[in-house]
Amino acid sequence: MGNFNNIKELPTNTEDKYVVIGAGPAGIGGAKALKENGIDFDAFEMGIDVGGLWNIKNPRSTMYESAHLISSKTMTEFKDFPMPEDTPDYPSHWQMCQYFKDYAKHFKLYDHYFFHTKVDNVEKNGDKWDVTITNENGTFTYTYKGVVIANGTLAEPNIPTFKGEFTGDLVHACKYKKADIFEGKRVLIVGAGNSGCDIAVDAVHRADKVHVSVRRGYYFIPKYVFGKPSDTIGGKLKFPRPIKQRLDAKILKWFTGDPERFGFPKPNYKMYESHPVINSLILHHIGQGDIKIQKDISHFEGKKVHFKDGTVEEYDVIMLATGYKLHYPFIDQKHLNWQGMAPEMYLNIFHPKHDNLFILGMIEATGLGWEGRYEQARLMAKYIKGLKDGKSSAKRFQKKKQGANPDMTGGYKYLKLERMSFYVDKDTYRGLLAKETKTMA
Ligand SMILES: Cc1cc2nc3c(=O)[nH]c(=O)nc-3n(C[C@H](O)[C@H](O)[C@H](O)COP(=O)(O)OP(=O)(O)OC[C@H]3O[C@@H](n4cnc5c(N)ncnc54)[C@H](O)[C@@H]3O)c2cc1C
Repeated sequence: MGNFNNIKELPTNTEDKYVVIGAGPAGIGGAKALKENGIDFDAFEMGIDVGGLWNIKNPRSTMYESAHLISSKTMTEFKDFPMPEDTPDYPSHWQMCQYFKDYAKHFKLYDHYFFHTKVDNVEKNGDKWDVTITNENGTFTYTYKGVVIANGTLAEPNIPTFKGEFTGDLVHACKYKKADIFEGKRVLIVGAGNSGCDIAVDAVHRADKVHVSVRRGYYFIPKYVFGKPSDTIGGKLKFPRPIKQRLDAKILKWFTGDPERFGFPKPNYKMYESHPVINSLILHHIGQGDIKIQKDISHFEGKKVHFKDGTVEEYDVIMLATGYKLHYPFIDQKHLNWQGMAPEMYLNIFHPKHDNLFILGMIEATGLGWEGRYEQARLMAKYIKGLKDGKSSAKRFQKKKQGANPDMTGGYKYLKLERMSFYVDKDTYRGLLAKETKTMA
């Protein structure tokens, strides 16, 4: 299983191959698509196995023990590899990691992967790419025909700066694994996104007090609505965007009431204009008084936190659930066409000029799932093959990708946040991928 870092097993004939960086859902989806299209490749993963951040043993994994899928299994799985029948609606990260291992085994992807192998540098070498890797045997540079970057978007912490000094433990959620660190502590979670809410709910059972500081309002979606996973409601029924936004917000109110009642600010944006929080327990615990909502932080003073409404509280632990930043440390920004907060890639995948440099998984959307990530990979692989075979459809696409991106927002006015800079509307986006894939066939 796999090419572990044995010097005899180092890559060979790389100049005729592509390389995939990462073995998360996007990386293994990419590997499968390359294989299906007869494109030879190697793949490097710094962790011990496939699974990406779902493999809690991977050094860059930001998973925690209590984590489960927040999108339901049928809306998330790879379509040609359904999860086993007895998988719960919202499987745990352990089950997800096993699923990815089974996927890699089934599609014979392990033969291509080198684990414990970190990509340090990717640099242009003529019309190819020099890829420098480090493993236990040392540092090596190989020249590859093309590069597929799939190193994830939720590993590099976004750490805000605060005035004053906090003398308790200040930790980012990327380091959070288990609730025992909260035993008997006074805990402040900063941010009420999906991770922040999960961690707050974990802390309730251990901590002396749990507060959550928020800057803006959120839409909270319970995991079940009318007895079904909430993302399966509506089925194939598709409403125009403004109706969907109003209707879903209305239905949500029947289930969650008004979060302002619990101290959350009123969202200053409409539903789906930021990533919703999928959590059935957070409002329940706030309603029971187990968790209290605090305003934005003004400054620290020893173990005291001053909030912007003038209140002051003492804490032992502050957990920053303040999100993640796009991070491609092994390649110069100029090669990724960075514009402002993110690389500007056609359909978030294709470099406008380079025909052998791609990003997979640089995407956020409500409910895109692994299949959405695979659809990115399929289009990429068909494009590579199409160019190789001299197909006119690939040549047409080559010109197209040099131009501006089509609208991928579906008309939603996303919040101007760094993490929303690569956010897309799932249906619009998948529609665009399907259309291009069809023309490339
Ligand atoms: C707690 C949590 C819950 C989530 N729940 C859901 C959900 O329910 N549904 C959903 O669709 N998404 C969810 N996500 C989003 C998550 O990002 C995706 O599920 C998915 O993991 C993205 O896959 P990826 O392959 O792009 O990235 P990752 O899973 O992050 O994988 C990237 C891989 O690249 C490797 N890598 C990075 N840099 C290098 C390097 N230099 N050299 C070699 N290897 C490298 C990493 O070790 C990692 O294995 C959740 C995220 C978190 C943190």
